[in-house]
Amino acid sequence: MTAHDPSLGRNRSGLLGWLGFGNRAGAEPMPLPETLAEPPRTDRRDTARRRQLEEIGTFLATHQLELTGQSLAIAHGYLSGEEPQLARLIDRQVQARKPVTAEWLDEIAARHGQGDDLAQLSQLMERLETSIDEFGRTSQDAHKATSDYHSALEEHVSELEQVNLAGEVISELATIAKVMLKRTREIEKQMQRSEAQTRSLKRRLEEARRSAEEDALTGLPNRRAFEARFEEEYRQARAAAEQLCVAFCDIDNFKRINDSHGHEAGDRVLKVVAECLSRISNDRCHVSRHGGEEFVVLLRDMPVEEARTRLDQLREQLAERRLVNRATDVPFGQITFSGGVADAFAFPDRRAALRAADAALYRAKQQGRNRILVAGAEDLMMPLAAA
Ligand code: GH3
Ligand code: MG
Ligand code: MG
Repeated sequence: MTAHDPSLGRNRSGLLGWLGFGNRAGAEPMPLPETLAEPPRTDRRDTARRRQLEEIGTFLATHQLELTGQSLAIAHGYLSGEEPQLARLIDRQVQARKPVTAEWLDEIAARHGQGDDLAQLSQLMERLETSIDEFGRTSQDAHKATSDYHSALEEHVSELEQVNLAGEVISELATIAKVMLKRTREIEKQMQRSEAQTRSLKRRLEEARRSAEEDALTGLPNRRAFEARFEEEYRQARAAAEQLCVAFCDIDNFKRINDSHGHEAGDRVLKVVAECLSRISNDRCHVSRHGGEEFVVLLRDMPVEEARTRLDQLREQLAERRLVNRATDVPFGQITFSGGVADAFAFPDRRAALRAADAALYRAKQQGRNRILVAGAEDLMMPLAAA
């Protein structure tokens, strides 16, 4: 097909419109090669997603909020209408001409119950991540389509320039094609920029997700990460007919350490215990900080008695250490922990197994601490331990 075929004029208005050319009054339709056909349109959802990402960026810039998992989730919740209560509070703050700062948002988060917010934050981050992924994919597709289109244009410009029969129509066509080339180059550059932004957004989101699942003090997975891991291990172990044990471990008389050595020293002791417990971590054993001075351990593919023995060895190793407060040289005294361990499949469901492990821990405390007990059916009858 050549540029002289008059039937090729049919694509002109769409293509030129897309590139920003209007129809000139009185001008004859100008033939264009078929390969200059209109580029694939990004569908409405992609446009909406792109707009949403732009709005999120504007929201963060307007309020001078740093790009974090939380600020992204808040911006998304506010702009998508999925967080009406949050939106009302932000609108009120803006109307009162007060700043929407990260500290203020933290305060609201604290007031509205952190547990729920964490779960919500996780859901929002997941949705946002999916959107960014899809946006990245469509942006890459569009980028490829644009550069294919660009190459086709380049080829046609050089073909046009070689045509000797060049009348006015051909030379005008060559000029238009050159302008189009310039525009596709600009579009390509924009695409590259937007892809780079998408990559950086994704990286930041992954960092935020990691830090949302890690306990800042000990570096262990936190309670939220444990919940997800427990659900997954329970499902996998049941499918593979493997054993799974869950254990609660709680430092004994920890309050006394804080009271006599101060909170900072208490933090250091917490880190030592975390490090001691995480010695048994591997791909079949997961140690997390459940909260406060309490840890939770998942042990896969191991009978409950063996799990108890493993934890008891750790308990003994810790109890044998003589830790000293390095700030004052005063010994901490013996540091011990108590534990309750349950066979996850010996109870109606994983929640019940967790409750039973907690109840066994409570019994261990009552029996004098510094010991690990195995949960039995009777533990399900016990009230929740306030360990
Ligand atoms: P028990 O043997 O019955 O478990 O007694 P306990 O003193 O360990 O338990 P209690 O629940 O009475 O006190 C736990 C203390 O742990 C109170 C709280 O201030 C402290 N704590 C919780 N989280 C942290 C933390 O991150 N750092 C420090 N330093 N202390 C913490
Ligand atoms: Mg304790
Ligand atoms: Mg406790």
